[in-house]
Amino acid sequence: MRNRFVVGNWKMHGNRVSNRALLEALVKGMQGLEGVECAVCVPFPYLGEVAAQLAGQPGKARLAWGAQNLNEHAQGAFTGEVSAQMLAEFGCRYAIVGHSERRQLFGETDAVVAGKYAAALAQGLKPILCVGETLAQRDAGQTENVVGRQLQAVLDLSGRKSLENAVVAYEPVWAIGTGRTATPAQAQAVHEFLRARVLPDTSILYGGSVKPDNAPALFGMQDIDGGLIGGASLVAADFIAIARAAQRKG
Ligand code: PEP
Repeated sequence: MRNRFVVGNWKMHGNRVSNRALLEALVKGMQGLEGVECAVCVPFPYLGEVAAQLAGQPGKARLAWGAQNLNEHAQGAFTGEVSAQMLAEFGCRYAIVGHSERRQLFGETDAVVAGKYAAALAQGLKPILCVGETLAQRDAGQTENVVGRQLQAVLDLSGRKSLENAVVAYEPVWAIGTGRTATPAQAQAVHEFLRARVLPDTSILYGGSVKPDNAPALFGMQDIDGGLIGGASLVAADFIAIARAAQRKG
């Protein structure tokens, strides 16, 4: 059976005080959330404090943590960068790779993303590989070409079997932070396309303006195994409501 995941991407938000309060509320909300793997991917400087705060969680359902990016090299003269080994030292279970903001704003190519995916795996981190098309690409009928190419770059470097230890997230660029969600049918169509290219047990998350009110319909689709959540992951009640929608998935 495919695992269900709900992962928060805090992006460049938060501070030490607000993080503490948010995590406290999330940990409380996690009670009874068995069956869904929940995690928050936080800015690098907060990893130590987040790890310390989440280390001794009560109950069976525990909130994991991870990073939003990493460097593809193991170590070296890469000023300002952070390696997979450093993330592992802080107890990260996950690292997002290939988020569209990294691809678009920081020029990350498919090859760089594939390197980051491999670097995460090498240190025992579970990469969350993001793929997704822009609105222009969708309008030009290029969606499958684009997400297929983004996925293939990773499979070419690390092999299909590597997906045993990874998660894929379909995030249409036009739906991220815009309030414009893909319809469940639009998302399902791309998930079905991806499903045919990954392992039978690979979890595929949807991301792009997921909120408590649209999560049940999205997660109700056959090939959507949970969500990668940006804005709504900064509001504990919303994140927990979304995780509960994933839990209810049959
Ligand atoms: C994201 O950051 O990956 C994301 C999906 O953001 P939002 O939920 O705000 O659209």
